[in-house]
Amino acid sequence: MLASALRAAVRGEVGTDAGTRALYATDASNYRVPPRAVVLPRCADDVSAVMAICREQGVPLTARGAGTSIAGNAIGPGVILDFSRHLDAVLDVDPSARLARVQPGVVLDTLQAAAAPHGLRFGPDPSSHSRCTLGGMIGNNACGTHSVAWGTTAGSVEELVVLLPDGSRLVTGSGQLPAGVATLEREYRRLIRTALPDWPRRGSGYALQHLLPEHGSQLARALVGTEGTCAVLL
Ligand SMILES: Cc1cc2nc3c(=O)[nH]c(=O)nc-3n(C[C@H](O)[C@H](O)[C@H](O)COP(=O)(O)OP(=O)(O)OC[C@H]3O[C@@H](n4cnc5c(N)ncnc54)[C@H](O)[C@@H]3O)c2cc1C
Repeated sequence: MLASALRAAVRGEVGTDAGTRALYATDASNYRVPPRAVVLPRCADDVSAVMAICREQGVPLTARGAGTSIAGNAIGPGVILDFSRHLDAVLDVDPSARLARVQPGVVLDTLQAAAAPHGLRFGPDPSSHSRCTLGGMIGNNACGTHSVAWGTTAGSVEELVVLLPDGSRLVTGSGQLPAGVATLEREYRRLIRTALPDWPRRGSGYALQHLLPEHGSQLARALVGTEGTCAVLL
């Protein structure tokens, strides 16, 4: 029922055979969790359709880039959405604004190659750079050796287009928080200020400090490091 619903709803490939499920049962970690199905989305509408089916059928959904996570981040028992196959383009590079727009499955080295002719680069450089995707880097707030100098992935993210679990799409920038998030930030502002250490490389837990007004109310940056638990990146 899950497989037929997915096949009827998406343009991308849907794999439910034993070989595909075995391939996607692991990432770079020691864990092994065979999923029920693997979908290779071809467009944002495919992602929305999968999200809707998973919501209706109560099936867990796990987004995946290159699967180089070493803590089981990119595996799950329900549906795996692999962005690396088709949604892997650098959409544009604007050298004057020093901004690039990318799809989540783009490999870091591909972005670096597109930025290099302009004398630019994406700062964070995990040693998996020839494989890891921007979606996965955003999921994990990836760092790399030079992040001490150039910052973590969170510091290089300006805006995210995300799909929320209820199926709505949101463009997250900075300066204004959606109503529910604004309420959360106001309610817990004091605790966020006092309980979360102001370290440039704090990588564990949700980065709620980015929601504070003194940090620019940056929901996009607060979503970096959430490992796909709050939203799927489009
Ligand atoms: C040999 C090796 C060296 C490494 N070196 C470093 C290093 O130097 N620094 C470092 O920080 N890390 C390092 N890593 C860890 C890992 O490579 C990085 O975190 C990398 O950025 C993960 O990218 P990925 O595309 O493989 O993501 P995946 O492992 O596929 O996914 C990572 C997380 O992001 C989520 N995700 C992926 N795509 C989306 C999406 N579209 N929407 C929502 N969530 C999404 C996943 O669900 C998962 O939680 C290394 C790993 C290996 C195996």
